[in-house]
Amino acid sequence: MSAVTTIGWIGLGNMGTPMSRRLLSAGYPVAVYNRSPEKAVALREAGATVAASPAALLTAAEVVFLMVSDDQAVRELFTGPEGLLQGAGPKKLLINMSTVSPGVSRELAALSQAQGHTYLDAPVSGSVRQAESGQLVIMVGGEEAGFARAQPLFEHLGKLAQHLGPTGHGNLAKLAMNTLLGFQAQGLAEALLFARQHQLQADDLLTLIANSALGSTFIKLKGEAVLADNYQAAFALKLLAKDLRLAQAEGLATPLAETVVQTFQQAEPALGEEDVIAVLKHLERA
Ligand code: NAP
Repeated sequence: MSAVTTIGWIGLGNMGTPMSRRLLSAGYPVAVYNRSPEKAVALREAGATVAASPAALLTAAEVVFLMVSDDQAVRELFTGPEGLLQGAGPKKLLINMSTVSPGVSRELAALSQAQGHTYLDAPVSGSVRQAESGQLVIMVGGEEAGFARAQPLFEHLGKLAQHLGPTGHGNLAKLAMNTLLGFQAQGLAEALLFARQHQLQADDLLTLIANSALGSTFIKLKGEAVLADNYQAAFALKLLAKDLRLAQAEGLATPLAETVVQTFQQAEPALGEEDVIAVLKHLERA
């Protein structure tokens, strides 16, 4: 795929904005669409064009990425009155990087294929910082040929893009990853609360964790957020609650999972807009 491939990008939230910027910075012509138009202003100023609808975006682009919240959002963007499937021209590559259910991917892959397009599910691991620096981990389901076509673009977004199998396998891998993320967020919160209960300093405990086999980028970033009392969403708690529901719908029913699903559903009404590590505040209140 040459540097002249025109990219369409849908979804300019916390993740979509830095990811689309990376493709723009790499020299690709990028057209963007976001439901709330004000979020496209910064991208236009950086050199992107702004499409009036998903259909217009598909007509203008060869490859279209989506990075939006959930199943409902992607379904509307594909099948709405001015949705992607109303766009002109066959053989587009549609890459859905949102975390959604395998079922919605299978449904949209079939609709895309009926119009001559190729659909990949390609959710990511990593958050805003990894999106900014092109260090995401990308897990891909769909046809091998589509994956090969997407690979040069994935190289600008992630440090690893792995093809896992047919449509939906990227989504299933992502749900497994976020199940572990839920365990780790709740685990860190519970360890910090236990330390606090016994007047141990949180920063001392975090230093010990960082220098032990338990240290990880996730624990480091979320530990720093707790120390700074900064719960602004890098990955919103409501999004993790959604992912855990999706995993449960796919049969996740093991003991830790039961607990974590329940904790995040209970935390969501009050703390959904805050970061996942705000689960600490929920457990503290409980
Ligand atoms: P976000 O900041 O909340 O942005 C959500 C985006 O989805 C916005 O562009 C929003 O448009 C759009 N959207 C929502 N509902 C829509 C609808 N019905 N129709 C059209 N557009 C709609 O979310 P994010 O953090 O970027 O996350 C995006 C996806 O990546 C999610 O699936 C999330 O689970 C996944 N993810 C996030 C992270 C992370 O750390 N943040 C990490 C890995 C994966 P408006 O601007 O109009 O609201």
